[in-house]
Amino acid sequence: MVLPEKLLSSLKGVEGFDKEVFEKTHASSEQVTSVRMNPGKRSIDNIQWSMDGAIHNSPFIIDNKIPWTQYGYYLKERPSFTFDPLFHAGCYYVQEASSMFLEQALKQTVGLSIPLKVLDLCAAPGGKSTHIQSLISKDSLLVSNEVIQSRVPVLKDNIIKWGCTNVIVTNNDPKDFSRLKNYFDVIVVDAPCSGSGLFRRDPEAIDEWSENNVKLCSLRQQRIIADVLPSLKKNGVLIYSTCSYSKEEDEDICKWMEEQFQISNFKIQISSDWKIAGSSYGYRFWPDKLKGEGFFLACFQKKDGEDFFLVKAKNKLTLVNKKEAAIIETWIGEKRMQYFLRNEMIYAIPGNFEEDIIFLYDNLRIQYAGVAVGEIIRDKLIPHHALAMSNLICGSIPSVRVSYDTAIDYLKKKEIKIQTPGKGWHLVQFEGHNLGWINILANRINNYYPKELRILKESV
Ligand code: SAM
Repeated sequence: MVLPEKLLSSLKGVEGFDKEVFEKTHASSEQVTSVRMNPGKRSIDNIQWSMDGAIHNSPFIIDNKIPWTQYGYYLKERPSFTFDPLFHAGCYYVQEASSMFLEQALKQTVGLSIPLKVLDLCAAPGGKSTHIQSLISKDSLLVSNEVIQSRVPVLKDNIIKWGCTNVIVTNNDPKDFSRLKNYFDVIVVDAPCSGSGLFRRDPEAIDEWSENNVKLCSLRQQRIIADVLPSLKKNGVLIYSTCSYSKEEDEDICKWMEEQFQISNFKIQISSDWKIAGSSYGYRFWPDKLKGEGFFLACFQKKDGEDFFLVKAKNKLTLVNKKEAAIIETWIGEKRMQYFLRNEMIYAIPGNFEEDIIFLYDNLRIQYAGVAVGEIIRDKLIPHHALAMSNLICGSIPSVRVSYDTAIDYLKKKEIKIQTPGKGWHLVQFEGHNLGWINILANRINNYYPKELRILKESV
Protein backbone atom coordinates (compact mmCIF):
# COMPACT_ATOMS: atom_id res chain seq x y z
CA MET A 1 0.00 0.00 0.00
CA VAL A 2 1.64 3.23 -1.14
CA LEU A 3 0.16 6.27 0.52
CA PRO A 4 -0.03 9.56 -1.44
CA GLU A 5 3.19 11.48 -0.82
CA LYS A 6 1.24 14.75 -0.82
CA LEU A 7 -0.97 13.47 1.97
CA LEU A 8 2.02 12.39 4.04
CA SER A 9 3.79 15.72 3.59
CA SER A 10 0.61 17.65 4.43
CA LEU A 11 0.37 15.78 7.75
CA LYS A 12 3.80 16.91 8.97
CA GLY A 13 3.33 18.66 12.30
CA VAL A 14 -0.25 17.45 12.80
CA GLU A 15 -0.86 16.32 16.41
CA GLY A 16 -0.11 12.61 16.78
CA PHE A 17 1.26 12.07 13.26
CA ASP A 18 4.29 9.81 13.12
CA LYS A 19 5.13 9.14 9.47
CA GLU A 20 7.17 6.00 9.95
CA VAL A 21 4.73 4.02 12.12
CA PHE A 22 1.79 5.41 10.19
CA GLU A 23 3.18 4.00 6.93
CA LYS A 24 4.15 0.74 8.61
CA THR A 25 0.62 0.26 9.97
CA HIS A 26 -0.79 0.83 6.51
CA ALA A 27 1.67 -1.59 4.97
CA SER A 28 0.69 -4.37 7.39
CA SER A 29 -2.40 -6.32 6.44
CA GLU A 30 -3.92 -6.07 9.93
CA GLN A 31 -7.67 -5.50 9.89
CA VAL A 32 -9.70 -4.51 12.93
CA THR A 33 -13.27 -5.83 13.16
CA SER A 34 -15.67 -4.41 15.70
CA VAL A 35 -19.35 -4.54 16.51
CA ARG A 36 -21.71 -2.47 18.62
CA MET A 37 -24.46 -4.25 20.54
CA ASN A 38 -28.08 -3.18 20.44
CA PRO A 39 -29.29 -2.56 24.01
CA GLY A 40 -32.81 -2.08 22.64
CA LYS A 41 -33.30 -5.71 21.70
CA ARG A 42 -35.34 -7.62 24.18
CA SER A 43 -33.52 -10.43 25.95
CA ILE A 44 -30.14 -9.17 24.76
CA ASP A 45 -28.86 -10.31 28.15
CA ASN A 46 -29.62 -13.89 27.21
CA ILE A 47 -26.84 -13.78 24.69
CA GLN A 48 -23.57 -14.41 26.40
CA TRP A 49 -21.42 -11.57 25.20
CA SER A 50 -18.55 -13.26 26.95
CA MET A 51 -15.00 -12.12 26.52
CA ASP A 52 -13.64 -15.50 25.70
CA GLY A 53 -15.78 -17.60 23.50
CA ALA A 54 -18.20 -18.12 20.69
CA ILE A 55 -21.53 -16.47 21.38
CA HIS A 56 -23.87 -18.60 19.37
CA ASN A 57 -23.77 -20.81 16.32
CA SER A 58 -21.74 -18.37 14.28
CA PRO A 59 -17.96 -18.05 14.65
CA PHE A 60 -18.27 -14.81 16.59
CA ILE A 61 -15.41 -14.45 19.02
CA ILE A 62 -14.99 -11.37 21.16
CA ASP A 63 -11.52 -10.09 21.80
CA ASN A 64 -11.86 -6.98 23.94
CA LYS A 65 -14.16 -4.15 24.88
CA ILE A 66 -13.71 -0.87 23.02
CA PRO A 67 -12.87 1.48 25.88
CA TRP A 68 -14.74 4.63 24.77
CA THR A 69 -18.12 2.99 24.36
CA GLN A 70 -20.43 0.98 26.55
CA TYR A 71 -21.62 -1.21 23.68
CA GLY A 72 -18.65 -1.85 21.42
CA TYR A 73 -16.39 -4.89 21.14
CA TYR A 74 -13.43 -5.88 19.01
CA LEU A 75 -13.71 -9.31 17.43
CA LYS A 76 -10.81 -11.74 17.19
CA GLU A 77 -11.54 -12.28 13.51
CA ARG A 78 -14.11 -11.24 10.97
CA PRO A 79 -16.88 -13.85 10.76
CA SER A 80 -19.41 -14.07 7.97
CA PHE A 81 -22.00 -11.65 9.33
CA THR A 82 -24.30 -12.51 6.44
CA PHE A 83 -24.66 -16.02 7.83
CA ASP A 84 -25.37 -14.90 11.37
CA PRO A 85 -29.14 -14.72 12.03
CA LEU A 86 -28.56 -12.36 14.97
CA PHE A 87 -27.00 -9.84 12.58
CA HIS A 88 -30.28 -9.86 10.64
CA ALA A 89 -32.22 -9.64 13.88
CA GLY A 90 -30.47 -6.30 14.59
CA CYS A 91 -28.73 -7.52 17.75
CA TYR A 92 -25.58 -5.67 16.74
CA TYR A 93 -24.18 -3.28 14.12
CA VAL A 94 -20.82 -3.88 12.45
CA GLN A 95 -19.06 -0.56 12.95
CA GLU A 96 -15.59 0.85 12.88
CA ALA A 97 -14.30 1.28 16.46
CA SER A 98 -12.98 4.88 16.34
CA SER A 99 -16.31 6.27 15.17
CA MET A 100 -17.99 4.89 18.32
CA PHE A 101 -16.22 7.75 20.14
CA LEU A 102 -19.37 9.71 19.27
CA GLU A 103 -20.72 8.18 22.50
CA GLN A 104 -18.23 10.16 24.63
CA ALA A 105 -19.06 13.33 22.74
CA LEU A 106 -22.77 12.88 23.43
CA LYS A 107 -22.41 11.73 27.04
CA GLN A 108 -20.07 14.54 27.97
CA THR A 109 -21.86 17.44 26.28
CA VAL A 110 -25.57 16.64 26.52
CA GLY A 111 -27.93 15.56 29.32
CA LEU A 112 -29.04 12.35 27.64
CA SER A 113 -31.79 11.50 30.11
CA ILE A 114 -33.95 14.48 29.10
CA PRO A 115 -36.12 14.57 25.95
CA LEU A 116 -33.98 15.81 23.06
CA LYS A 117 -34.46 16.57 19.40
CA VAL A 118 -31.41 15.22 17.60
CA LEU A 119 -30.47 15.52 13.93
CA ASP A 120 -28.00 13.15 12.30
CA LEU A 121 -27.52 15.11 9.09
CA CYS A 122 -25.32 12.77 7.03
CA ALA A 123 -26.71 9.50 8.25
CA ALA A 124 -26.49 6.68 5.69
CA PRO A 125 -25.86 3.80 6.17
CA GLY A 126 -26.87 4.42 9.78
CA GLY A 127 -23.90 3.62 12.04
CA LYS A 128 -24.07 6.87 13.99
CA SER A 129 -27.88 6.98 13.94
CA THR A 130 -28.30 3.53 15.48
CA HIS A 131 -25.67 4.46 18.07
CA ILE A 132 -27.39 7.77 18.90
CA GLN A 133 -30.70 5.92 19.20
CA SER A 134 -29.18 3.59 21.79
CA LEU A 135 -28.02 6.56 23.86
CA ILE A 136 -30.98 8.96 23.84
CA SER A 137 -34.06 8.53 26.01
CA LYS A 138 -37.33 7.03 24.76
CA ASP A 139 -38.87 10.51 24.87
CA SER A 140 -36.24 11.87 22.50
CA LEU A 141 -36.67 12.12 18.77
CA LEU A 142 -33.94 11.43 16.22
CA VAL A 143 -34.16 12.78 12.69
CA SER A 144 -31.87 10.61 10.60
CA ASN A 145 -31.23 12.36 7.29
CA GLU A 146 -29.53 11.33 4.08
CA VAL A 147 -29.36 13.69 1.10
CA ILE A 148 -28.49 11.06 -1.52
CA GLN A 149 -31.72 9.32 -2.38
CA SER A 150 -30.14 6.02 -3.43
CA ARG A 151 -28.58 5.74 0.05
CA VAL A 152 -31.88 6.19 1.91
CA PRO A 153 -33.14 2.56 1.61
CA VAL A 154 -30.09 1.11 3.42
CA LEU A 155 -30.49 3.73 6.15
CA LYS A 156 -34.18 2.93 6.51
CA ASP A 157 -33.49 -0.83 6.61
CA ASN A 158 -30.89 -0.36 9.35
CA ILE A 159 -33.22 1.84 11.39
CA ILE A 160 -35.97 -0.78 11.06
CA LYS A 161 -33.61 -3.62 11.98
CA TRP A 162 -32.45 -1.71 15.07
CA GLY A 163 -36.09 -1.76 16.23
CA CYS A 164 -36.38 1.99 16.72
CA THR A 165 -39.70 3.70 17.44
CA ASN A 166 -38.39 7.26 17.90
CA VAL A 167 -36.58 7.83 14.62
CA ILE A 168 -37.70 9.71 11.50
CA VAL A 169 -35.77 9.05 8.28
CA THR A 170 -35.63 12.02 5.91
CA ASN A 171 -34.14 12.72 2.49
CA ASN A 172 -33.24 16.40 2.51
CA ASP A 173 -30.49 18.72 1.48
CA PRO A 174 -28.80 20.42 4.46
CA LYS A 175 -30.22 23.78 3.34
CA ASP A 176 -33.79 22.47 3.79
CA PHE A 177 -33.15 22.44 7.53
CA SER A 178 -33.10 26.25 7.54
CA ARG A 179 -36.92 25.88 7.71
CA LEU A 180 -36.50 24.41 11.19
CA LYS A 181 -34.84 27.37 12.91
CA ASN A 182 -33.66 26.70 16.48
CA TYR A 183 -35.38 23.29 16.52
CA PHE A 184 -32.64 20.77 17.39
CA ASP A 185 -30.84 20.31 20.72
CA VAL A 186 -28.08 18.32 19.05
CA ILE A 187 -26.82 18.10 15.48
CA VAL A 188 -24.33 15.49 14.35
CA VAL A 189 -22.50 16.23 11.08
CA ASP A 190 -20.51 13.14 10.11
CA ALA A 191 -19.36 14.91 7.01
CA PRO A 192 -18.66 13.48 3.57
CA CYS A 193 -14.88 13.72 3.24
CA SER A 194 -11.83 12.64 1.26
CA GLY A 195 -11.77 9.39 3.26
CA SER A 196 -8.05 8.99 3.98
CA GLY A 197 -8.87 7.57 7.42
CA LEU A 198 -10.26 4.44 5.79
CA PHE A 199 -7.34 3.70 3.43
CA ARG A 200 -6.33 0.66 5.44
CA ARG A 201 -9.75 -0.89 4.87
CA ASP A 202 -10.29 0.32 1.38
CA PRO A 203 -6.93 0.65 -0.42
CA GLU A 204 -8.72 1.43 -3.70
CA ALA A 205 -9.74 4.78 -2.22
CA ILE A 206 -6.06 5.79 -2.33
CA ASP A 207 -6.30 6.29 -6.10
CA GLU A 208 -9.20 8.69 -5.65
CA TRP A 209 -7.35 10.86 -3.15
CA SER A 210 -6.04 14.22 -4.36
CA GLU A 211 -5.26 17.61 -2.86
CA ASN A 212 -7.95 19.03 -5.06
CA ASN A 213 -10.52 16.62 -3.65
CA VAL A 214 -9.54 17.61 -0.11
CA LYS A 215 -10.15 21.24 -1.10
CA LEU A 216 -13.54 20.41 -2.66
CA CYS A 217 -14.52 18.38 0.41
CA SER A 218 -13.59 21.22 2.76
CA LEU A 219 -15.71 23.70 0.77
CA ARG A 220 -18.61 21.26 0.86
CA GLN A 221 -18.15 20.78 4.63
CA GLN A 222 -18.36 24.56 5.11
CA ARG A 223 -21.53 24.72 3.02
CA ILE A 224 -23.13 21.87 4.97
CA ILE A 225 -22.38 23.48 8.33
CA ALA A 226 -23.51 26.95 7.26
CA ASP A 227 -26.77 25.45 5.94
CA VAL A 228 -27.64 23.38 8.99
CA LEU A 229 -26.48 25.58 11.86
CA PRO A 230 -29.60 27.81 11.92
CA SER A 231 -31.66 24.73 12.92
CA LEU A 232 -29.59 24.26 16.10
CA LYS A 233 -31.02 26.01 19.16
CA LYS A 234 -29.16 28.34 21.48
CA ASN A 235 -26.82 26.32 23.72
CA GLY A 236 -27.39 23.34 21.43
CA VAL A 237 -24.49 21.02 20.65
CA LEU A 238 -22.90 20.48 17.25
CA ILE A 239 -20.76 17.37 16.84
CA TYR A 240 -18.58 17.45 13.74
CA SER A 241 -16.65 14.42 12.51
CA THR A 242 -14.81 13.13 9.46
CA CYS A 243 -12.78 10.09 8.50
CA SER A 244 -10.11 12.28 6.90
CA TYR A 245 -6.65 13.04 8.30
CA SER A 246 -6.41 16.34 6.44
CA LYS A 247 -6.32 19.45 8.60
CA GLU A 248 -8.24 21.27 5.84
CA GLU A 249 -11.23 19.05 6.63
CA ASP A 250 -10.72 18.89 10.39
CA GLU A 251 -9.10 21.65 12.48
CA ASP A 252 -9.31 24.22 9.66
CA ILE A 253 -13.07 23.66 9.38
CA CYS A 254 -13.36 24.07 13.17
CA LYS A 255 -11.37 27.31 13.04
CA TRP A 256 -13.53 28.58 10.18
CA MET A 257 -16.68 27.71 12.20
CA GLU A 258 -15.45 29.63 15.20
CA GLU A 259 -14.69 32.67 13.05
CA GLN A 260 -18.00 32.59 11.16
CA PHE A 261 -20.52 31.70 13.85
CA GLN A 262 -21.32 32.32 17.49
CA ILE A 263 -20.11 28.96 18.73
CA SER A 264 -17.61 27.78 21.28
CA ASN A 265 -15.47 24.68 21.28
CA PHE A 266 -16.19 22.01 23.91
CA LYS A 267 -13.40 19.91 25.37
CA ILE A 268 -14.19 16.40 26.52
CA GLN A 269 -12.32 14.16 28.93
CA ILE A 270 -10.29 11.37 27.39
CA SER A 271 -8.29 8.77 29.24
CA SER A 272 -4.60 8.61 28.27
CA ASP A 273 -5.00 4.80 27.98
CA TRP A 274 -7.21 5.34 24.96
CA LYS A 275 -4.25 6.75 22.98
CA ILE A 276 -6.45 9.33 21.27
CA ALA A 277 -4.54 12.46 20.21
CA GLY A 278 -6.06 15.73 21.39
CA SER A 279 -5.67 18.50 18.82
CA SER A 280 -6.41 22.23 18.85
CA TYR A 281 -10.18 21.70 18.43
CA GLY A 282 -10.92 18.02 18.63
CA TYR A 283 -9.75 14.43 18.86
CA ARG A 284 -7.70 12.48 16.35
CA PHE A 285 -7.63 8.73 15.94
CA TRP A 286 -4.45 7.29 14.36
CA PRO A 287 -4.48 3.58 13.44
CA ASP A 288 -0.84 3.24 14.50
CA LYS A 289 -1.69 4.41 18.05
CA LEU A 290 -4.97 2.63 18.78
CA LYS A 291 -7.20 -0.16 17.51
CA GLY A 292 -9.34 1.69 15.01
CA GLU A 293 -9.25 3.60 11.75
CA GLY A 294 -8.53 7.28 11.13
CA PHE A 295 -11.19 9.57 12.57
CA PHE A 296 -11.60 13.16 13.76
CA LEU A 297 -14.29 14.56 16.04
CA ALA A 298 -14.93 17.97 17.61
CA CYS A 299 -17.80 19.39 19.68
CA PHE A 300 -19.23 22.92 19.77
CA GLN A 301 -21.95 24.79 21.59
CA LYS A 302 -24.04 27.37 19.77
CA LYS A 303 -24.17 30.69 21.56
CA ASP A 304 -26.88 32.57 19.64
CA GLY A 305 -30.40 31.77 18.47
CA GLU A 306 -33.81 31.93 20.08
CA ASP A 307 -36.12 29.55 21.86
CA PHE A 308 -38.19 27.31 19.65
CA PHE A 309 -41.99 27.16 20.02
CA LEU A 310 -43.91 24.59 18.06
CA VAL A 311 -46.76 26.45 16.34
CA LYS A 312 -49.90 24.35 16.14
CA ALA A 313 -49.94 23.16 12.54
CA LYS A 314 -52.93 23.47 10.22
CA ASN A 315 -52.28 20.00 8.85
CA LYS A 316 -53.10 16.91 10.82
CA LEU A 317 -52.03 13.31 10.78
CA THR A 318 -54.67 10.90 9.50
CA LEU A 319 -55.16 8.90 12.65
CA VAL A 320 -56.63 5.40 12.55
CA ASN A 321 -60.30 5.06 13.55
CA LYS A 322 -61.49 3.24 16.67
CA LYS A 323 -62.13 -0.03 14.86
CA GLU A 324 -58.66 -0.01 13.31
CA ALA A 325 -57.08 0.94 16.65
CA ALA A 326 -58.81 -2.04 18.28
CA ILE A 327 -57.37 -4.37 15.61
CA ILE A 328 -53.86 -2.95 16.06
CA GLU A 329 -54.04 -3.19 19.83
CA THR A 330 -54.41 -6.96 19.62
CA TRP A 331 -50.86 -6.95 18.18
CA ILE A 332 -49.17 -4.19 20.13
CA GLY A 333 -48.57 -4.21 23.86
CA GLU A 334 -47.21 -0.66 24.23
CA LYS A 335 -49.96 1.73 25.30
CA ARG A 336 -48.54 5.17 24.64
CA MET A 337 -48.46 4.94 20.85
CA GLN A 338 -50.29 7.02 18.27
CA TYR A 339 -51.26 5.33 14.98
CA PHE A 340 -51.53 7.18 11.71
CA LEU A 341 -52.04 6.29 8.07
CA ARG A 342 -49.86 7.28 5.16
CA ASN A 343 -50.50 5.73 1.72
CA GLU A 344 -52.53 2.90 3.32
CA MET A 345 -49.64 1.94 5.65
CA ILE A 346 -50.21 2.34 9.39
CA TYR A 347 -47.32 3.81 11.36
CA ALA A 348 -46.87 3.84 15.13
CA ILE A 349 -45.13 6.74 16.83
CA PRO A 350 -44.84 7.56 20.53
CA GLY A 351 -47.91 9.68 21.40
CA ASN A 352 -45.87 12.67 22.61
CA PHE A 353 -44.41 13.25 19.11
CA GLU A 354 -47.65 13.93 17.23
CA GLU A 355 -47.12 17.70 16.90
CA ASP A 356 -43.46 17.29 16.00
CA ILE A 357 -44.21 14.73 13.32
CA ILE A 358 -46.77 17.07 11.73
CA PHE A 359 -44.21 19.89 11.82
CA LEU A 360 -41.57 17.64 10.26
CA TYR A 361 -43.97 16.35 7.57
CA ASP A 362 -44.75 19.99 6.71
CA ASN A 363 -41.08 20.86 6.28
CA LEU A 364 -39.12 17.77 5.26
CA ARG A 365 -39.25 14.81 2.87
CA ILE A 366 -40.01 12.09 5.39
CA GLN A 367 -39.21 8.62 4.09
CA TYR A 368 -40.06 6.65 7.21
CA ALA A 369 -41.43 7.44 10.66
CA GLY A 370 -41.63 5.41 13.87
CA VAL A 371 -42.61 1.80 13.18
CA ALA A 372 -44.49 0.61 10.09
CA VAL A 373 -47.20 -1.58 11.65
CA GLY A 374 -48.88 -2.92 8.50
CA GLU A 375 -52.02 -2.59 6.45
CA ILE A 376 -55.55 -3.45 7.48
CA ILE A 377 -57.32 -5.41 4.79
CA ARG A 378 -60.81 -6.76 5.36
CA ASP A 379 -60.54 -6.06 9.10
CA LYS A 380 -57.27 -7.98 9.41
CA LEU A 381 -53.78 -6.63 9.94
CA ILE A 382 -51.15 -7.71 7.44
CA PRO A 383 -48.12 -7.02 9.65
CA HIS A 384 -45.09 -5.18 8.28
CA HIS A 385 -41.57 -6.57 8.78
CA ALA A 386 -40.73 -3.50 10.90
CA LEU A 387 -43.32 -4.56 13.48
CA ALA A 388 -41.49 -7.87 13.93
CA MET A 389 -38.21 -6.02 14.44
CA SER A 390 -39.63 -3.61 17.03
CA ASN A 391 -40.27 -4.15 20.70
CA LEU A 392 -43.88 -3.09 20.34
CA ILE A 393 -45.36 -6.55 19.83
CA CYS A 394 -47.59 -8.13 22.46
CA GLY A 395 -46.14 -11.14 24.20
CA SER A 396 -49.24 -13.09 23.13
CA ILE A 397 -48.38 -12.99 19.39
CA PRO A 398 -47.49 -16.58 18.46
CA SER A 399 -43.93 -17.41 17.54
CA VAL A 400 -41.89 -20.35 16.32
CA ARG A 401 -38.33 -20.96 17.45
CA VAL A 402 -36.16 -22.22 14.66
CA SER A 403 -32.79 -23.91 14.37
CA TYR A 404 -29.77 -22.21 12.80
CA ASP A 405 -30.29 -24.00 9.45
CA THR A 406 -33.99 -23.12 9.32
CA ALA A 407 -33.16 -19.51 10.26
CA ILE A 408 -30.77 -19.30 7.30
CA ASP A 409 -33.38 -20.83 4.96
CA TYR A 410 -35.90 -18.32 6.25
CA LEU A 411 -33.47 -15.42 5.66
CA LYS A 412 -32.87 -16.73 2.14
CA LYS A 413 -36.65 -16.53 1.72
CA LYS A 414 -36.82 -20.24 1.02
CA GLU A 415 -39.71 -22.41 1.95
CA ILE A 416 -39.18 -23.49 5.54
CA LYS A 417 -40.10 -26.83 6.97
CA ILE A 418 -41.16 -26.85 10.60
CA GLN A 419 -43.73 -28.53 12.78
CA THR A 420 -46.60 -26.05 12.52
CA PRO A 421 -47.90 -25.06 15.92
CA GLY A 422 -51.13 -23.53 14.58
CA LYS A 423 -52.42 -21.39 11.74
CA GLY A 424 -51.97 -17.71 10.96
CA TRP A 425 -49.24 -15.13 11.48
CA HIS A 426 -46.24 -16.23 13.53
CA LEU A 427 -42.97 -14.58 14.41
CA VAL A 428 -39.87 -16.54 13.44
CA GLN A 429 -37.39 -16.46 16.31
CA PHE A 430 -33.77 -17.49 16.53
CA GLU A 431 -32.22 -17.61 20.01
CA GLY A 432 -35.07 -15.45 21.31
CA HIS A 433 -34.80 -12.78 18.62
CA ASN A 434 -37.35 -12.02 15.94
CA LEU A 435 -36.28 -12.46 12.33
CA GLY A 436 -39.62 -11.69 10.68
CA TRP A 437 -43.03 -13.16 9.88
CA ILE A 438 -44.47 -16.33 8.42
CA ASN A 439 -48.11 -17.01 7.70
CA ILE A 440 -49.09 -20.63 8.30
CA LEU A 441 -51.86 -21.82 6.00
CA ALA A 442 -53.62 -25.19 5.89
CA ASN A 443 -51.22 -26.69 3.35
CA ARG A 444 -48.15 -24.43 3.30
CA ILE A 445 -46.12 -21.82 5.12
CA ASN A 446 -45.72 -18.43 3.45
CA ASN A 447 -42.35 -16.82 4.12
CA TYR A 448 -42.80 -13.04 4.55
CA TYR A 449 -39.14 -12.10 4.91
CA PRO A 450 -38.67 -8.96 2.73
CA LYS A 451 -37.37 -9.95 -0.70
CA GLU A 452 -34.91 -7.05 -0.84
CA LEU A 453 -33.26 -8.15 2.44
CA ARG A 454 -32.89 -11.84 1.67
CA ILE A 455 -29.48 -13.55 1.77
CA LEU A 456 -28.38 -14.02 -1.82
CA LYS A 457 -25.18 -15.98 -1.23
CA GLU A 458 -25.64 -19.74 -1.20
CA SER A 459 -22.99 -20.47 1.43
CA VAL A 460 -20.39 -18.80 3.65
N1 SAM B 1 -22.89 8.80 9.50
C1 SAM B 1 -22.82 7.65 8.63
C2 SAM B 1 -22.64 6.41 9.46
O1 SAM B 1 -22.08 6.52 10.57
O2 SAM B 1 -23.09 5.33 9.04
C3 SAM B 1 -21.73 7.80 7.58
C4 SAM B 1 -21.85 9.08 6.83
S1 SAM B 1 -20.72 9.28 5.52
C5 SAM B 1 -19.27 9.67 6.33
C6 SAM B 1 -21.24 10.82 4.87
C7 SAM B 1 -22.64 10.87 4.32
O3 SAM B 1 -22.87 12.20 3.81
C8 SAM B 1 -22.90 9.93 3.15
O4 SAM B 1 -24.02 9.14 3.43
C9 SAM B 1 -23.18 10.85 1.98
O5 SAM B 1 -24.16 10.35 1.13
C10 SAM B 1 -23.66 12.13 2.66
N2 SAM B 1 -23.46 13.34 1.83
C11 SAM B 1 -22.83 13.45 0.64
N3 SAM B 1 -22.90 14.73 0.21
C12 SAM B 1 -23.58 15.42 1.13
C13 SAM B 1 -23.99 16.78 1.22
N4 SAM B 1 -23.69 17.66 0.29
N5 SAM B 1 -24.71 17.14 2.30
C14 SAM B 1 -24.99 16.26 3.27
N6 SAM B 1 -24.63 14.97 3.23
C15 SAM B 1 -23.93 14.55 2.17
